Amino acid sequence: MAVKPDPVFTKLTKVLSALKETTVKEKSGEEAASELKEDFRRENGGAPLTDSQRQAVRRTKVRVEWESTRKKHVRRCVACGTQLPVTARADAKTCSDACRQKLARNR
Ligand SMILES: [Zn+2]
Repeated sequence: MAVKPDPVFTKLTKVLSALKETTVKEKSGEEAASELKEDFRRENGGAPLTDSQRQAVRRTKVRVEWESTRKKHVRRCVACGTQLPVTARADAKTCSDACRQKLARNR
């Protein structure tokens, strides 16, 4: 039995994956949610949003807010000020071994 793709879910996935790519244009959760709401309303031909569409809008808002909070908590290398990768260990203070050694020498 083939699974019929849920158009709402497809759209939500698209919106959420686009989030990761938008680094230049910052959007608030409220903005992103209302954009998606308008989008759904157009698709519905002006009819009210379905439950799953409303849920998608809510999830988008929460997700966008979470993403922007995360972006604000960017950590920087204490030696050169370079942004630490998100994969950096929680206790990492420098971006590279070179910076770590530089810091150790200055001590
Ligand atoms: Zn560094």
